[in-house]
Amino acid sequence: MEYRRTAVIKLDTSEGADDSLRETVEQFKHCANTASEWCWHGDDGYHVTSKAKAERALYDRLRDETDLTANLVQKGIRRAVEAVKSGVERLKRGENTSQPHFSADSAVYDKRSATFHRDHVSLSTIDGRVECNYILPDDSETPPTKYVSGEDFEFRMAHLQYRDGNWYLHASMRKVKVDEESPESESKHRTVLGVDLGVNNLAVASTGRFWSADEFNHWHREYEKRRGSLQQCGSRHAHENIESVGRKEYGRFEIYLHTVANELIEEALETDCSHIVFEDLTHIRENIPEATWQHVWAFRRLYEYVEYKAEEHGVEAVQVDPRNTSKRCSTCGFTHDDNRHQESFECQKCGYENHADYNAAKNIGLQYLRRRQNAGDGGAPVDVRLNRGTLNVSGEYIPPASVEA
Ligand SMILES: [Zn+2]
Repeated sequence: MEYRRTAVIKLDTSEGADDSLRETVEQFKHCANTASEWCWHGDDGYHVTSKAKAERALYDRLRDETDLTANLVQKGIRRAVEAVKSGVERLKRGENTSQPHFSADSAVYDKRSATFHRDHVSLSTIDGRVECNYILPDDSETPPTKYVSGEDFEFRMAHLQYRDGNWYLHASMRKVKVDEESPESESKHRTVLGVDLGVNNLAVASTGRFWSADEFNHWHREYEKRRGSLQQCGSRHAHENIESVGRKEYGRFEIYLHTVANELIEEALETDCSHIVFEDLTHIRENIPEATWQHVWAFRRLYEYVEYKAEEHGVEAVQVDPRNTSKRCSTCGFTHDDNRHQESFECQKCGYENHADYNAAKNIGLQYLRRRQNAGDGGAPVDVRLNRGTLNVSGEYIPPASVEA
């Protein structure tokens, strides 16, 4: 179970820091308001509520227009998409609403744009990082001191706000589980859930859980059939019918994808994973030649849902280079075209045999391990969560008993 608190922390800022923070918040608002304008007026008259779509359209432009880091630009766009989404919900319920506008002096920080310490925070700004000390009540039992100073809670993300001449950090904090090792190793140690996407199995996790694509493929075929027969009529009425069938089908696909996303997050939480790793979706059609554009749509949508929902649980969704993940042996690393025959994987070198998608899911997790190993950030340990135990980068298998010890 999750146990959270929001700590409102007053910040002590030097004069130089004050100017940098003000300009940062100004530019953050510019990103959010630009994105709100674009999403509200939308594409072909539809409001845009997809973060990925808004980012594709606006990210480069806003990077040019501002001095913000990539992360803050992204957060500004996302903040607007969230607001537009709620606006659209209100419209659906028949309530009166208009394009969201951001006037409060506030910006969103996560662990990539801020480093949270127990007595100060380092924030990314238009002039690089600035450090601000916390102004906390002396009594250690009084919030926010209770949450900020003790080791029981860890920082997840924060809203920086300027109000009546003062800066505040609205930090969301999560209780560190008591049965874990020390909080320090908890925050550094990463355990990842690798996920392989495909046309027979929509998703396969490195823990060995499969999400079949049967239902999805069935709907898809039915839709194509109906579309085919409607198209033969050729009238405008038929065209409208195709569109309405399409909308209905997509609605069903989306509900199914939400379910898969929720179950993937459940799997990550149950097995104590800090990260869910997918293959990079940019060139997914080249990596999965059998995928139709509906599959590609489903993969992207699934990733978006997972990314969005995972964040609420303090789990991060990431993408890695998918090169060779289907041909590489997850046990010995031998990579060869002949290792894989459709759904079965058999290593030509060490003889390891398993379901091809499961082998790929493990490789996707391992790919993230290797990337982290080369990142040179002090070698924080990473493990891939398997159905039993974990696998580390040197190929050492740790059975579940010693993980729990
Ligand atoms: Zn092998």
